[in-house]
Amino acid sequence: ATDQSARPQIRNSGQAYLDAKLPVGKRVEDLLGRMTLEEKVGQMTQAERGAAANDPLLVTTWRLGSVLSGGGSVPTPNTPQAWADMVDGFQAQALQTRLQIPIVYGVDSVHGHGNLLGATVFPHNIGLGSTGDPKLVERIEHVVAEETRATGPQWAFAPCICVARDTRWGRTYESFSESPELVTRFASAIEGFQGKHTKDLKAADRVLASAKHYAGDGDTEFGSAAGDYTIDQGVTVTNRRDFARFDLAPYVDAVQRYDTGTVMPSFSSIDWTEDGIGNPIKMHANRELITDVLKGKLGFDGFVISDWEGIHQLPGDYANQVRTGVNAGTDMFMEPFSYQAFETTLLAEVRAGRVSQARIDDAVRRILTKKFELGLFEKPYTDRTHLAQVGSPQHRALAREAVAKSQVLLKNAGGLLPLKKNAKVYVAGRNADDIGNQAGGWTLSWQGASGQHRIPGNTILDGIRQVAPGAQVTYSKDGSAPTTGSDVAVVVVGETPYSEGFGDVGGPSWGFDPEDGGVLREPKSLDLQPGDKAVVDKVCGAIAKCAVLVVSGRPQVIPAEQLGKIDALVASWLPGSQGEGVADVLFGKRPFTGKLSHSWPRSADQEPINIGDRNYDPLYPFGWGLRTHGH
Ligand code: BGC
Repeated sequence: ATDQSARPQIRNSGQAYLDAKLPVGKRVEDLLGRMTLEEKVGQMTQAERGAAANDPLLVTTWRLGSVLSGGGSVPTPNTPQAWADMVDGFQAQALQTRLQIPIVYGVDSVHGHGNLLGATVFPHNIGLGSTGDPKLVERIEHVVAEETRATGPQWAFAPCICVARDTRWGRTYESFSESPELVTRFASAIEGFQGKHTKDLKAADRVLASAKHYAGDGDTEFGSAAGDYTIDQGVTVTNRRDFARFDLAPYVDAVQRYDTGTVMPSFSSIDWTEDGIGNPIKMHANRELITDVLKGKLGFDGFVISDWEGIHQLPGDYANQVRTGVNAGTDMFMEPFSYQAFETTLLAEVRAGRVSQARIDDAVRRILTKKFELGLFEKPYTDRTHLAQVGSPQHRALAREAVAKSQVLLKNAGGLLPLKKNAKVYVAGRNADDIGNQAGGWTLSWQGASGQHRIPGNTILDGIRQVAPGAQVTYSKDGSAPTTGSDVAVVVVGETPYSEGFGDVGGPSWGFDPEDGGVLREPKSLDLQPGDKAVVDKVCGAIAKCAVLVVSGRPQVIPAEQLGKIDALVASWLPGSQGEGVADVLFGKRPFTGKLSHSWPRSADQEPINIGDRNYDPLYPFGWGLRTHGH
């Protein structure tokens, strides 16, 4: 550990902004009045922690307002202690600036503090949506906030309150539901992160939340950019009425009811049909929606954080991009490696009169307000009281409960499930004993944990062995071991991890994962992979009773040929680190209660398919889910 006594401290020589007894508004105005333009622009800038490798005095030199860990950007060793030391190291740099304004540190924490090895990894939102239980999700996000803040970061880029209307979208698993009403109920996740009252933000177990990605991210045509299924950043073609109903709705509660501290604009674009098709506007340039609607009409008083290099996708040169982004209403800019160019360019734009001082002051006021509310001026360094709670048995027990409640029983011919505790079970399939696959994307690395990156926890197979010690378990990944004597098969198929991109395919969509040694990943499709079909055919063909579990970030298309051989079918989603929650419902330790929060199509070409559509004819409808009784 670092020598904590040598760290710089905030020197209070009577400045009003350092008087904790004054109201936040007064402190903000006092501080703002002392700041130079350079210092203000610095507050609006967020760099990636990895940039410190080239710029050891990163925060001090650039007077940065914030630092982030992008997916998989972790300290070495990747331990709770090292995280807290890293964040405190950046904070020490911030306290060496003239006005000693603390940084706020952000991480994704979209299903637990997933970057951190040893964190409790919860089901992705698609599974949480299937629990139908916003109170449970609130408890979960409180735990996530605790694990996150205990290790330094005071800010989570979560929850995604996206309404995925087309499950070909590569981020469908980040969506609680296709139903805007259901997603709106889950906006209560914000309360789990932040607490109920503004003063809760100071607590050692709360973080600032970020409702993302504003707005329409899940409602793009084909779930992708036109003609390129590897890109999830497409165009939402809509009119203002539908947009308000399907895409904007969750933000009304996120802002007005749950007081989200930050909002992140989407990489996608909006094309208003009433303005004539063919004029998509990138959300990062959308002044109407960010300034007039979000900050104006909805009354959002937190700050807007751009997405990762979000302004780089705007038309024109960099000066144009910066100006357009700032004038549209974004307050802080995630410029992971171009923080320097960002600051220089924005300064020049202000000096040339193309960005107003008033706009800068508005942005900085919003950012400082949240920093005061987080209590950073009183306690800039990590309160490590809760450090031992990271990955604790209590937290894992909550994850296990959530996993069990997220399981959706789609089919249960002959009442096959729950299984008897002394059953002779043949377990097969590539997702039965693979914790990386069952955790999905945003786990240790951006594209998920695989190969040598493993998270601690239990696979579904581990869970079966723990929950049903009296069962006779044979495990064979590809189903090649003899099935002799087994009376029931549990075949676990589905997807391998990905994040962003990798929408459904029309043709093959291949992806390279640079963090995984450039591994070529399989084409992503709503269809079961050929290997998955083969193992279902083989095992379900040989054993009379067959349960199939689909571990995936979205519904998978099950061809009639396979479906006919399957007695029980379960949507397991991406359960995370506690596979024993799946075993709990399989063996009746808990009942199946989950219900589909996304329609399950018969074929990929039914997409987009959503409850309320005309001629709605999915394989399993929204809200479907059989119940069982526990033993
Ligand atoms: C994603 C965001 C995420 C950010 C930081 C972006 O690529 O779109 O959801 O918060 O990266 O990791």
